[in-house]
Amino acid sequence: MAAAQYRSGVPDNWFVDPVQLGVPGVRRQAPGDDDNALAWQTDALCAQTDPEAFFPEKGGSTRDAKRICSSCDVRGECLDYALENDERFGIWGGLSERERRKLKRHAS
Ligand code: SF4
Repeated sequence: MAAAQYRSGVPDNWFVDPVQLGVPGVRRQAPGDDDNALAWQTDALCAQTDPEAFFPEKGGSTRDAKRICSSCDVRGECLDYALENDERFGIWGGLSERERRKLKRHAS
């Protein structure tokens, strides 16, 4: 897949963990606390790959990212997070922005 198909820049805040950054209002995870909404990101397969594939240019291919998502152990958690937080850009849980919007419409 040609790199030119992808967005020139991956958003700086992609996969930013507000817990680790100490964002006001976001609780820090206590040792032994399993209630971390972003804990699933430690098993994110995309974190081990090229993030550019997950933020293709408009009209660019999403195939590579979706293939990675299909093997990801935290796909469900990722999709839930994206839907709950209204993530507008990129591939999350194997779905594009348009596919997530469609899923939300059908769910409501
Ligand atoms: S489902 Fe895809 S976008 Fe989500 S964590 Fe896994 S590889 Fe990353």
